Amino acid sequence: MFNCPNCQSKDIGKIGINQYYCWNCFIELTTSNGLILTHQVEEDGSLSSLDDLFDEDERRFIL
Ligand SMILES: [Zn+2]
Repeated sequence: MFNCPNCQSKDIGKIGINQYYCWNCFIELTTSNGLILTHQVEEDGSLSSLDDLFDEDERRFIL
């Protein structure tokens, strides 16, 4: 398991294959090729990427 790259919380729930949700800051996390992709769920239900906010190093994880 990994920490949320946004808030460093470990309070992360699995919601699908390679898909996780941070219960602390309410962002969706997708793991792909050793990187964590971060998405915010907008009020209209669409997803917007937060990846620009983080360096690639911060989003790298090792299984
Ligand atoms: Zn978080």
